[in-house]
Amino acid sequence: MAGEEAAAGGAEGRDAGSGGGYDGKCVFCRIARREEPGTALLPCEYEDLVCFRDIRPGAPLHYLVVPVEHMGNCKTLKAEHIPVVKRMMEVGKAVLQRNNFSDLNDVRMGFHWPPFCSISHLHLHVLAPASQLGFLSRLVYRINSYWFITVSIMQMSFSVGFQLQAENAISF
Ligand SMILES: [Zn+2]
Ligand SMILES: [Zn+2]
Repeated sequence: MAGEEAAAGGAEGRDAGSGGGYDGKCVFCRIARREEPGTALLPCEYEDLVCFRDIRPGAPLHYLVVPVEHMGNCKTLKAEHIPVVKRMMEVGKAVLQRNNFSDLNDVRMGFHWPPFCSISHLHLHVLAPASQLGFLSRLVYRINSYWFITVSIMQMSFSVGFQLQAENAISF
């Protein structure tokens, strides 16, 4: 819903499925392989993840953490992906710390629940300071709204089957 939308150009609706690998039509796949000269990759602790600035920041610090392999959005995640999600959060915290931001209570991290996201490649939004989100960002990245879920709720959802319930509840 945020910056990536501009670059997406109609990626919406294409079912990325669960298969890994590379999708040349996916902007995040291209960014991860340094095929998008406009987007600089930031230092990242893990080789299978990349981190870069959101092109339309919703807060003074706004990063995206993305697996190099094409992976479907958060709706297709399963319990086996929890370690990846945890590492994505670690990368998010580290990039904030490198920018001298350490108040983890003032950070917003989460995933857009489809279809409120234009890109089907899994990506974690990292925004800080959360207290300085603009009006629109506050809406787009609202804590635990049904279109933006923060990571703790998502982890819970793996165990209680919340995903399915949510899917059925959203009728548009
Ligand atoms: Zn998004
Ligand atoms: Zn991709």
